[in-house]
Amino acid sequence: MKFDVIIVGAGPGGMFAAYKLAGKLNTAIFEMGRDISKRKCPSDLSESYCTKCNPCNITSGVGGAGGLSDGKLNYVHPEYPSSFSVGGDFDFLDPNYLIEKMNEVDEIFLKHGAPDELYGDDLEKIEDFLKRANAAGIEFVPLRQRHVGSDELPKVVKSIEDKLKKEGVKIYTRKTVVDIDPERKVVRTEKGEEFGYDYLIIAVGRSGASWLEKWARDYNLEVAENSKAIDVGVRVEVPASIMDDITSAIYDPKLRVITKRHDDYMRTFCTCPRGWVIREDYGDFCLVNGHSKAKEKSSNTNFALLGHYEFTEPFDEPNEWGRDLARITTKLGGGNPIVQRLKDLRLGRRSTESRIKNNRLVQPTLKTAIPGDISLAYPGRAIDDILDALERLDKVIPGVADDSTLLYAPEVKFYSLKLKVDEWMKTNIPYIYAIGDGAGVSRGIVGAAVTGLIAAEGILRERGME
Ligand SMILES: Cc1cc2nc3c(=O)[nH]c(=O)nc-3n(C[C@H](O)[C@H](O)[C@H](O)COP(=O)(O)OP(=O)(O)OC[C@H]3O[C@@H](n4cnc5c(N)ncnc54)[C@H](O)[C@@H]3O)c2cc1C
Repeated sequence: MKFDVIIVGAGPGGMFAAYKLAGKLNTAIFEMGRDISKRKCPSDLSESYCTKCNPCNITSGVGGAGGLSDGKLNYVHPEYPSSFSVGGDFDFLDPNYLIEKMNEVDEIFLKHGAPDELYGDDLEKIEDFLKRANAAGIEFVPLRQRHVGSDELPKVVKSIEDKLKKEGVKIYTRKTVVDIDPERKVVRTEKGEEFGYDYLIIAVGRSGASWLEKWARDYNLEVAENSKAIDVGVRVEVPASIMDDITSAIYDPKLRVITKRHDDYMRTFCTCPRGWVIREDYGDFCLVNGHSKAKEKSSNTNFALLGHYEFTEPFDEPNEWGRDLARITTKLGGGNPIVQRLKDLRLGRRSTESRIKNNRLVQPTLKTAIPGDISLAYPGRAIDDILDALERLDKVIPGVADDSTLLYAPEVKFYSLKLKVDEWMKTNIPYIYAIGDGAGVSRGIVGAAVTGLIAAEGILRERGME
């Protein structure tokens, strides 16, 4: 069987590319995971992720890694140029074109059920916060954001999927692409089936990044950058009341600090107002993450506080370093994440069940986290950075560095290989485009979706249809 366009991966990148191609070119999506209606995590999100599903329903399936996620949609803020760096490396795009594409993504999300409420437009509040942040030596990056919520996002994904199918896009689930033959212009699945294409879009996300890395090596796909960096830190949990002021104006505030002692770059990421800390299991280690819902609310707010560490010669395995840190932290937690009160970290002692129980202001939302000592797993430099950044953030969000604040580890973000693509997301191999997080060009739902629209436009142009 042959298609005009084959898209590998049904994450936001792949689905938005298909959205643009639907009704114009004969398009098929091959997705190794399940349909959104069948993506169920057997564990309660507030307690534990597991490894029972292969592929994992959290990171794979129609909707991609974002399908069951918090659904924070981050858009650049035209008033604030610093916001152009969030969600992907889009330096190669004209800023006006980027805004145009983000607006297009937003319109599609709204059409399919994303909420009307838009954060980031209360400029008076933002300017006030910006002033306070800068006075404390903190960079604040204002964005425009919507929050769909992990309870509502599957409905939005389903609505987009239905529209694609109605317009003739074939969506094949439980089909893993294991090889691409660019000479014959065919993809091969794990069952040995072959499908021909005129154009191919690789949109495999992080779950397909290691396969893509290997394929890129075998077929000389040009690489722009092989990252030597990793982000390591903690998830911070505080009473929601101390962050309500800022999170009511900006749902997921992006704050950046250069630490005093080590000159390291720390950032806040993935704030979940009135949400839950959750865990993700990766076999021999686990990581923490967060989510929040549109309807149900907890009384805590959590966010990631991450340090960016770049390695130099001779070491070039940052991801392995991160995995080792995660393994040792998980081991200390007896196979679970660790939770520690900030007071205990400051005093150089472990948290215990009774110390956590006494922590009257804030109780952990992740019940399977084990009270422990993060400083027995993390390097001193990372601990210095965490303490320093929290003190600085406290000047902008008073109370965030209170003794009662809870810290969870391991919180690690890995970087993928960055492929070399042109302004239409086209690789050096004819008729092959690469988009989204797997290609290393985006870092989020909206960024991945934007690259999908661009690749589709590139193909339509190549066909003389735009
Ligand atoms: C728990 C969690 C919460 C998140 N929360 C947010 C958030 O609130 N806001 C935000 O902006 N971002 C969030 N993200 C990140 C966001 O989901 C990703 O940045 C985004 O989904 C990337 O889109 P993508 O299309 O590039 O790849 P993905 O969404 O990863 O999709 C790739 C798809 O390709 C499939 N695939 C991989 N290899 C193959 C293969 N060989 N054959 C066939 N199919 C294949 C995968 O199964 C997957 O479904 C979150 C991620 C996680 C894991």
